[in-house]
Amino acid sequence: MHGASVPQGEFHLIDAIRKRATLRADVTLGIGDDAALLRLPADHELVVTTDTLNIGVHFLAGAAPADLGWKALAVNLSDLAAMGALPAWCTLALSLPQADADWLDAFLDGFFELAQRHDVALVGGDITRGPLSITVTAHGFLPEGRALRRDGARVEDDVWITGTLGDASAALALQGRAGAWASADDLLRRLHRPTPRITVGLVLRGLAHACIDVSDGLLADLGHVCAASAVGAEIAIAQLPASDALTGLHDGEARWALQLAGGDDYELCFTAAVADREAVRHALASVQTPGTIVGRIIAGDAVRALTPDGEAWTAPRTGYMHFAAAT
Ligand code: ADP
Ligand code: MG
Repeated sequence: MHGASVPQGEFHLIDAIRKRATLRADVTLGIGDDAALLRLPADHELVVTTDTLNIGVHFLAGAAPADLGWKALAVNLSDLAAMGALPAWCTLALSLPQADADWLDAFLDGFFELAQRHDVALVGGDITRGPLSITVTAHGFLPEGRALRRDGARVEDDVWITGTLGDASAALALQGRAGAWASADDLLRRLHRPTPRITVGLVLRGLAHACIDVSDGLLADLGHVCAASAVGAEIAIAQLPASDALTGLHDGEARWALQLAGGDDYELCFTAAVADREAVRHALASVQTPGTIVGRIIAGDAVRALTPDGEAWTAPRTGYMHFAAAT
């Protein structure tokens, strides 16, 4: 259907996309027909996820198109990583205010840079006219029954986090004030070019009891794991991993708020048995990814953050507002 399609150049744009798309042996039919034909390996489950980025909601009007291309795919690959899936294919649905071939080319630079890194083939999509909006659907696969789900956390599990937390939300607060801090570039890169933790998801299969990617903030996302698993959790704030760029800018409660309630870091939060600590450390080292134990699963239904003095701490409203206002 083309009722709302970009009036001129729609097929020209699709052609530009098709020319840059790389294929894989398991793509029987990619861009160009009514639908794609894809071959799933035997004894594997198909893992499917989709996420949309909207102008004014998920990014600002001045965002660099290449960054948008990267991020639109990255947030989807991060969901596959959190399931322990190996990415394979994706589709791209674009709503564009006009048929701007230069904008599209720059967008595809970032999109395909990440796609090629993970051998993900773009196999179809759609282009319509409307406010700038980007929807990616990503497909991966997993040996049957091996998915890292949210509902497997067990009481006494360690709670682990990869990498560092708080950089992306600190970067949001910096936008428009770039140049004021030497460390701003590092933080902005975390916001605009998040790294999906694909290899981590793969090595955590059979090791992690539950896993989620941190897109909405650690408290919120660990809360989803706890709700699905019917358990509670305690986070030791003093253990939360922070980058040098973040600690150079924010201290104390302001930093805690960014690390616990800020989103967009796309690290993996997972739980694993205490007895498997060394195995987890070994698995993370094998994919050159730092990991930190930040708390434990307890009986109950709440996620509590404990200060270095052992007191329960609630993120001040400013911590949430900072992030909410800027997204
Ligand atoms: P239809 O009207 O049958 O949906 P389209 O004209 O929308 O066909 O698309 C033609 C082909 O181009 C299809 O294979 C579709 O998947 C592909 N395509 C359209 N837009 C995109 C896009 N943004 N990215 C990748 N492939 C696309
Ligand atoms: Mg179509």
